[in-house]
Amino acid sequence: MKITSPSVASSDVLPGAPQLAYRQDGLYMEDVRLDALASQHGTPVFVYSRAAMLAALAAYQRGFAGRNAQICYAMKANSSLGVLQVFARAGCGFDIVSGGELERVQAAGGDMRKVIFSGVGKTRPEMKQALEAGIGCFNVESEAELDVLSGVALAMHRIAPVSIRVNPNVDPKTHPYISTGLKGNKFGVAHEDALQIYRHAASLKGLQVVGIDCHIGSQITEATPYLDAMDRVLDLVQSIEAAGIPIEHIDFGGGLGINYNQDSPPAADALWQELLGKLDARGYGSKKLMVEPGRSLVGNAGVCLTEVLYLKPGEEKNFCIIDAAMNDLPRPAMYQAFHAIVPVVPRRGTSTTVYDVVGPVCESGDWIGRDRALTVAAGDRLAVLSAGAYCMSMASNYNTRGRAAEILVDGTQAHLIRARETAADTFRGEKLLP
Ligand SMILES: *Cc1c(COP(=O)(O)O)cnc(C)c1O
Repeated sequence: MKITSPSVASSDVLPGAPQLAYRQDGLYMEDVRLDALASQHGTPVFVYSRAAMLAALAAYQRGFAGRNAQICYAMKANSSLGVLQVFARAGCGFDIVSGGELERVQAAGGDMRKVIFSGVGKTRPEMKQALEAGIGCFNVESEAELDVLSGVALAMHRIAPVSIRVNPNVDPKTHPYISTGLKGNKFGVAHEDALQIYRHAASLKGLQVVGIDCHIGSQITEATPYLDAMDRVLDLVQSIEAAGIPIEHIDFGGGLGINYNQDSPPAADALWQELLGKLDARGYGSKKLMVEPGRSLVGNAGVCLTEVLYLKPGEEKNFCIIDAAMNDLPRPAMYQAFHAIVPVVPRRGTSTTVYDVVGPVCESGDWIGRDRALTVAAGDRLAVLSAGAYCMSMASNYNTRGRAAEILVDGTQAHLIRARETAADTFRGEKLLP
């Protein structure tokens, strides 16, 4: 990456980060100067580009042009209300995994009929809440869940629309913690058991079978696992329908990767061109299609701005200590994930040093980047890239650190969509002993 060069041309877009480019006075997102935003709102602060989110969504929309398709944003990637509004206004549905996420969709004005509810551990109150809200579909993950859901629905005199998540047993070739479609995973039902479980679902009075779904993992950078999963799912659709159970929609889940560090995932439209080719060839091209993308819609639309607190030379390592930490950016600690780290205002000069970029949290796992060549001084600001997905939504208050502020950029405008948490916010609800 030519990011440490101080003379970056204004047209240079950073890899994997659309709507982000250097101009003469530093890094911009759309038409907003990030250094000025950091001065105004403090650091750490997450900044998201509305245009980048809509551009990512447009790739899916192009891929599905002319088809009966519904894009359900997997909101656990970033569930901030302002982000949800962008997708709700663009016509997206939502893939939720908890009653809390359901309330967020309601607060953001999303269409309940376009909500699908995934997750292996839905509770009865969550089922009731979702039935009352009138969601579009429950993506059921076990046979036992079918019985419970049917019971909850009957007690409410409702019929729950269901899809069963099948485990296609394909290897998405991603990190084991984000691989979900293999036999050893807790998700979905086994391919071999699916037909019998569909028969069971069809026999339950409180359920209406409407679809089938799968989701094989996350940060997938190849088309092959999707093509293999599609074949496996279509085999099941064939046998389930042959057993007299109509399948209205097929939901292929999410999981498409983004470019963090020289990753080259297929573009959503190119991927779907290939997948739809297979779907058409097998005669299922006119079925209603659903997808549940999360990361690929928001991951590269966001950055986290942070300030360098101290430079600490060491015998074996030099440390660049920043004011963002694993509680703000948990992916490196959790998955040893890579985020590019670039200066907000590049420094002139050549004294580049290799640092481990670390946060203030009292854990050795609190690192954000390892062995990064940076030209920095204390007080400089850095941008941690590809921070739109699975960062703020996974953020915690560990070390009683308030969660960062969030800003949504739209052209020349910058909207504060989440105020920085104060220490008092972090212990609101706690009670002193008498
Ligand atoms: C997390 C998740 C998604 C989204 O995955 P991404 O990799 O962010 O696209 C979709 N569907 C289900 C069921 C999920 O759990």
